[in-house]
Amino acid sequence: MKMQSAWEIAEGVRKGSISAVEIVEEFFERIEKHDKEIRAFITVSKDSAIQQAKEIEKKRREKKLGRLAGVPIAVKDNICTRGIETTCASKILKGYIPPYDATAVRMLKEEGAVIIGKTNLDEFGMGSSTEFSAFFATKNPRNLNHVPGGSSGGSAAAVAKGLSAVALGTDTGGSIRCPSAFCGVVGVKPTYGLVSRYGLIAYANTLEQIGPIANNVIDAALLLSCIAGHDPHDSTSIGENKDYTKFNSSAKKLKIGVPRQYFGEGTQKAVSDAVWRAIKKLEGEGAEVEEIDLKSVGYALASYYIIAMSEASSNLARYDGLRYGFQDSSGARDWSTLFSKDRKAGFGFEVKKRIMLGTFALSAGYFDAYYLKAQKVRNLIIQDFQRAFKKFDVLMGPTMPTTAFKLGEKTVDPLAMYMSDCDTVPANLAGIPAASIPCGSSNGLPIGLQIMATPFEEGKMLNVAKTLEDILGVYAE
Ligand code: GLN
Repeated sequence: MKMQSAWEIAEGVRKGSISAVEIVEEFFERIEKHDKEIRAFITVSKDSAIQQAKEIEKKRREKKLGRLAGVPIAVKDNICTRGIETTCASKILKGYIPPYDATAVRMLKEEGAVIIGKTNLDEFGMGSSTEFSAFFATKNPRNLNHVPGGSSGGSAAAVAKGLSAVALGTDTGGSIRCPSAFCGVVGVKPTYGLVSRYGLIAYANTLEQIGPIANNVIDAALLLSCIAGHDPHDSTSIGENKDYTKFNSSAKKLKIGVPRQYFGEGTQKAVSDAVWRAIKKLEGEGAEVEEIDLKSVGYALASYYIIAMSEASSNLARYDGLRYGFQDSSGARDWSTLFSKDRKAGFGFEVKKRIMLGTFALSAGYFDAYYLKAQKVRNLIIQDFQRAFKKFDVLMGPTMPTTAFKLGEKTVDPLAMYMSDCDTVPANLAGIPAASIPCGSSNGLPIGLQIMATPFEEGKMLNVAKTLEDILGVYAE
């Protein structure tokens, strides 16, 4: 199927060759036809979307259209959308209707994007397959017996199936890149601080970023250009705001480092072959390629899970049943009983496990042995990346060690599920930008290549992504 790209839609709407209302209706028709099977959406916001599209038509007459005029966009359901239920795929937030838009959502709306719905995820972003949603699992549109990846599985599946032109995901330890790799689309985790986290419901706040999922590099760059920048509501956000769509595609003299640790045990041969084939093509175009060692990356997964769970245990303490969503007040006489009842019934198994492990890692007797040590490892990882980027423009490797696994294959083995994040978590620990782009397939399942760059070098990273996309072509079903 030929996908309609976001930039083409926006251009058509601006020129008047495409009607915003018609294009939005077209996407809803596809959702009605395919989403029963894929289950990418938790909530579909048809009425407000048509209303938004009508307003865009009106603005066209006044010639005041933005860079995303009429572009249908799906938003991961852990990002607040004013007036549209936002659940984090958790029972505890069922029924929560935010009174405000996340900054990224507000910026997209200001550019004319139309919010068509909220997509499924692993509860609070905790997972790599979207099977830990409290509501239902999403399926991989490339093969319905396989997972779409996670935790932004709904967003990636919606884009891959053409149910939305583009989508927002969030990436704490790979949740944009993993499903993008598994579904054969482009996903970008920005540098920590490039995009405001205001309105992103926190899982592990020192690791996560909102970012684009798209069918091609130009759309991802366009979306990123619209959401980057400082926000007074998020003191960790930085005033960088470039137009990332100005490409200057060439591999000449590009210095690429390929860390051996990204091809470690558990990496499927088909994955490493496809990634190397793509890297060799860049070499053929004049890039300089060198294999390197990033030793500390071997400890990234252990460090990530300690830090992520510790932060989760603190961030999720706010769900007491009094302020938001779900409440199980039957028979509760005091605050402590109410708190326990709500959390027992409101959180799923994986979330409860992580809160307990995180609380343990932060507790007085174990803080030094676990949390502090994990932070020290994080520092080593940052230093390793800094050293590597003195020599190389970008680093490359697989996004995921395998192609999409089967539904149910890893839900019973939590370690196997965690291990699948080994190549994505280092970028979150170091705060660097990382993108996944399709570079081939095995048995009909897409393979993602990961490109990493130094902080705030999204421009350089996307240039390389575009060069590769030009060589390899856009992944088509
Ligand atoms: N799979 C990782 C986790 O479970 C990453 C999730 C994410 O990036 N939100 O923590």
